Amino acid sequence: MKRLEGKVCLITGAGQGIGEATALKFAREGAVVIACDLKQEQVEAVAQACRAGGAQAEGQVMDVTNRAQVDAVVAQVMAAHGRIDVLVNNAGITQDARLQKMTLEQFDRVIDVNLRGVFHCAQAVAGHMTQQGSGVILNASSVVGLYGNFGQTNYAATKFGVIGFTKTWARELSPKGVRVNAVAPGFIKTPMIATVPDKVLDDLAQKVPLKRLGQAEEIANAYAFLASDEASYITGAVIEVDGGLTL
Ligand code: NAP
Repeated sequence: MKRLEGKVCLITGAGQGIGEATALKFAREGAVVIACDLKQEQVEAVAQACRAGGAQAEGQVMDVTNRAQVDAVVAQVMAAHGRIDVLVNNAGITQDARLQKMTLEQFDRVIDVNLRGVFHCAQAVAGHMTQQGSGVILNASSVVGLYGNFGQTNYAATKFGVIGFTKTWARELSPKGVRVNAVAPGFIKTPMIATVPDKVLDDLAQKVPLKRLGQAEEIANAYAFLASDEASYITGAVIEVDGGLTL
């Protein structure tokens, strides 16, 4: 039995990296995948890859900072499928600088995507999920949302903030059948960290008890578990998937 059979799952930032791996994993688990991201070609390619494995999937251009676009995609999914079972709030960006060098533009942009975008998407689906009496919202935090990181004032604030969202929404929505959880990945090999020099990545890997960086699929596996009925008694949790980095 596939773990997400027939569940309508909307994944943000699904064009590459962890979001793409999550879309493909969910498709293999039987989900109806709505792969959302900024670029039409990217979401189409991911949806096509999902369909190639036999799943039902579609790509949607959706900028999470654009509330009208988020509402329009959610309305379209509701019209086509009549329900939304899972939202994976995966879209996220970095714009790093030390405190004294960070521009207001860098600060605002990261808050806009990583925090406001998560709020937009959750707010857009919450009413449908509570009406259904079921649903799952999964938020992308980070180990940086647990212990901060040099040069990431803006990003750390958003990833701590996402944990605040998770615990607040779990209190508000769980009585209505909606589970809300966060995943805090460690260092995962995706385009997000592609600009980090190999030497730095090697040093980072040595700090991880499992002695390697993570793969996008290893985060997707955690999302698939949390999205499935196997996680039926888990809400308000932050699951660290970091090779032991935070030990
Ligand atoms: P990624 O490879 O950069 O992919 C993120 C995707 O989100 C990209 O396709 C990006 O599009 C898209 N995106 C950016 N702004 C968006 C917006 N406004 N609306 C919709 N989509 C948008 O990142 P990743 O490494 O897979 O990370 C995914 C999530 O996991 C993020 O929330 C990240 O903070 C979190 N995370 C990652 C790591 C890691 O080590 N990789 C660790 C901890 C947490 P463009 O490329 O076109 O901008």
